[in-house]
Amino acid sequence: MTTTLCGESGVSCVASEVSSEALAVLAARAGCALSRSIQRLVLASDQNLGHLEVQAAQDVQELLRQAIERGAQAKADATPPVCPVCGQPLSRLSGDHPRTFESRFGTITVRRTRGYCQRCRKWRVPADPALGLEETAGYSPAVQDMAALLVSKMPVEDARAVLEHLTGVQLPRATLDREARRQGERAQRLRAQLDAQATTEKRPCELTLEPYQMILQLDAWNIRERDDWGKTARLRRAGREPERWHWVYTGTYFRLDHRGQTAGGRPVITERGFVATRQGVDALREQLHAEALRRGLGQAAGALVIGDGAVWLWRLADDRWPQARQRLDFYHAVQHLAAVGRALCGQEPEKLKAWLRPLVRQLKHESAVKVVRQLEEVLAGLSAGPTAQVVGREVNYFHEHRERMDYRAALRAGEPIGSGPVEATCRQAQCRFKRPGQFWSRVGDEALLCLETFWRNDRWHLLFPHTAFNPARN
Ligand SMILES: [Zn+2]
Repeated sequence: MTTTLCGESGVSCVASEVSSEALAVLAARAGCALSRSIQRLVLASDQNLGHLEVQAAQDVQELLRQAIERGAQAKADATPPVCPVCGQPLSRLSGDHPRTFESRFGTITVRRTRGYCQRCRKWRVPADPALGLEETAGYSPAVQDMAALLVSKMPVEDARAVLEHLTGVQLPRATLDREARRQGERAQRLRAQLDAQATTEKRPCELTLEPYQMILQLDAWNIRERDDWGKTARLRRAGREPERWHWVYTGTYFRLDHRGQTAGGRPVITERGFVATRQGVDALREQLHAEALRRGLGQAAGALVIGDGAVWLWRLADDRWPQARQRLDFYHAVQHLAAVGRALCGQEPEKLKAWLRPLVRQLKHESAVKVVRQLEEVLAGLSAGPTAQVVGREVNYFHEHRERMDYRAALRAGEPIGSGPVEATCRQAQCRFKRPGQFWSRVGDEALLCLETFWRNDRWHLLFPHTAFNPARN
């Protein structure tokens, strides 16, 4: 190794001298350090095993950093000088282009060969994609993975602190944020590719239908964004109020035969797909359809869409899954019954309960038609006024959803009558995305939502292949 490769700082010169030592020497040194640390643990009355866990990681850190750096260099040297995009051999090759980045075990530098691709008319560095380094990343794949996961799960400042606490990797807040969003954008591109594959994939002409039902549950919640920040005054002068809350559309789906119970009787769904997007209903429709196809919608004997009363949701269902049955979430139906009850009983909780109870029971175990008929009778007996208005509105609601309230048949068939799972999922996502004082940009939250869907759908390894790698099994 020559000194010209060491860069300007004295520190990296020292590092490169050390790196010329055999790994075995470093390993022996790490071994001595570990022995000393063990002795210290035994002697120090104020240290427990945790102290050794921290110290041991520190003792082997330099060994691991150098192993990673040498591995990266060996891989770069072994990468053939062909264009990683089109496969054409590169011309005008020049070596020794250093690149420094953060790895799981510290900063490392790799020297790579650069060449020109005549076909793409671009300069290429084939070692970068071989190492899993995209053009703009200053981080190794393992650090990219950790940044993406932590920032999609918690606010950036917490993510920064947790990352440092658990791994010792120090990243400034802004850098961590940028890296996570970059990974999220990569996830969005991969999602588009996977969705296109799922919907264009040729399926056999004669499908073997399996006797399962595919359950799709849809819901929406809103998110606070800062798209219009700094433009408030201008927008108001133009007579417009800046929009800060935007809808996030979510859907979840599962096969009915994948729903079961824990030993304690709690309902669980063993395999469940999840979609969330803030790019509108159309985006949700296409993403959810691709997901459902991947999970066997094409082979399902039937499909069922469950949701609350929102108009967009039923339009989407009519449009995308015209053959699917539709069901209004039972608990939303009950809320609308309660609205009638409150209009009739006023502030008398006991009276309201007594009025509501038999209707809820009938709705669930008998028939919706019967319930609607009673509401119509009530309405007919009211004179014009606010009460009649409320009751009239709710009667219309029940008329609109009359075909979607087959609760008795659903319970007999062992099907869900509520959209509990999707609402639970929404609540979890909102814990991350709707904290007090948090604002999101449209681009940023779609990227993070996309990471969240890869994680929840067990597809994280498609983004970060090393996470599916289990050395113990190889
Ligand atoms: Zn090329």
